[in-house]
Amino acid sequence: MIPPPFEYLTPDSLPETLALLRQYGDEARLMAGGQSLLPMLKLRLIRPRVIIDIGGLRELTDVTEDGDSVRLGALVTERTLERTLEERQPLLSEAAASIGDVHIRNLGTIGGTLSQADPSGDLAPAVLALQATLTVRSAGGSRTIAAHEFFSGPYDTCLAGDEMVTHVDVPDPAGVRGHAYVKLARRAGDYAVVGAAALVSLSPDGACRDCRVALCAVGPTALVCQASGASLRGTGLTDSDLAEAAVLAGRDADPVSDVHASAEYRRQMTPVVAVRALTRARDRARARLDAPPAP
Ligand SMILES: Cc1cc2nc3c(=O)[nH]c(=O)nc-3n(C[C@H](O)[C@H](O)[C@H](O)COP(=O)(O)OP(=O)(O)OC[C@H]3O[C@@H](n4cnc5c(N)ncnc54)[C@H](O)[C@@H]3O)c2cc1C
Repeated sequence: MIPPPFEYLTPDSLPETLALLRQYGDEARLMAGGQSLLPMLKLRLIRPRVIIDIGGLRELTDVTEDGDSVRLGALVTERTLERTLEERQPLLSEAAASIGDVHIRNLGTIGGTLSQADPSGDLAPAVLALQATLTVRSAGGSRTIAAHEFFSGPYDTCLAGDEMVTHVDVPDPAGVRGHAYVKLARRAGDYAVVGAAALVSLSPDGACRDCRVALCAVGPTALVCQASGASLRGTGLTDSDLAEAAVLAGRDADPVSDVHASAEYRRQMTPVVAVRALTRARDRARARLDAPPAP
């Protein structure tokens, strides 16, 4: 398991990194945590001429909490998401906690895992449900991309060869909210066979103000289940409302078979996992609504 030869560069700053990306373009690969890149190199699935190790770019490691959103540098690790965002962005924290094991989460980064665009990646459904945006930069400038426009296919994104993700902005959901990320996997630490993120917000009377459902591992990219979420808005979120919404989510699944599970099993389990996520999110939102106000 020895990677093919490559030139190894360690820029000290973002401008230097962007200049290298402009110089080498598609011949280069960035390395953040290396948790997907190194296996791909060792399996010789990719043969870049140059590896640009961005691990030293301290300016991309910050978590910045502001009035109504959280800004995450691309190098914020999965472990940091898990441990620091439990209160402010619990859906992201819960999804991060389900990734691999702690060694992987200590190294894997939000920018790396989203750019890897693995259809089974656990963070993608969370950023989709949260309607996050990604800031992308090249030497020529920057642009902002909504999470639902970022993923373009299995292991593929809309990034150009000279672009990189620098930040992910995650808005706070409005209203009294409940969240859940539920992952069906063969063993603890495995990639998802089906993953579902649900985000529910309630009006003061307990009705559903908004609901978003997103899935991973059941299509070429993680996906937002528009019909499922829309079907719950304005309802009382009864068990049968949730069951119907989960069936709608299942209709969006277009899975393939792989070593982890057959397409048929994934299709059958999608509504099951979706209803578990919706139920947990609803129950958490109701618990917050019923909680006495803080003194
Ligand atoms: C044994 C094992 C189990 C795992 N289990 C899971 C799991 O259960 N769930 C899960 O979701 N993931 C899992 N992972 C993957 C893990 O989450 C990785 O950390 C993640 O996919 C990649 O993050 P990274 O920072 O290591 O990126 P890297 O491996 O360094 O890079 C991945 C790709 O993204 C590109 N890239 C990196 N940073 C940027 C950037 N800022 N802008 C643009 N492109 C960039 C790289 O060039 C490369 O193509 C597992 C990995 C391993 C090794």
